[in-house]
Amino acid sequence: MLGEACRHGVKWSDHCPQCELVSARETVAHWGEAVDRARSVIDAANIAAAEPAGNILLKVAGKPFRCSCGCNVFHHPPNNSDVYACNACDLCYG
Ligand SMILES: [Zn+2]
Ligand SMILES: [Zn+2]
Repeated sequence: MLGEACRHGVKWSDHCPQCELVSARETVAHWGEAVDRARSVIDAANIAAAEPAGNILLKVAGKPFRCSCGCNVFHHPPNNSDVYACNACDLCYG
């Protein structure tokens, strides 16, 4: 099968746009769905990361939660998204 040229008559050492198109279509057919899924996962992560980490209004059992200092606005401390810290006194909950 391997001759001097591809089936479009282009030498193997040269660039053949038609061969490239064929392989591009194969790549999309094989990986397109996985890439789309991966992109949506990355997008969701980026959106989550882009949300401001401050000014979170907490609710506990459906009621607004207040810190013992009376403040009801919280933020995540840096590098700890499991914990909520009071914006006023920095007391941590979580
Ligand atoms: Zn070709
Ligand atoms: Zn507080």
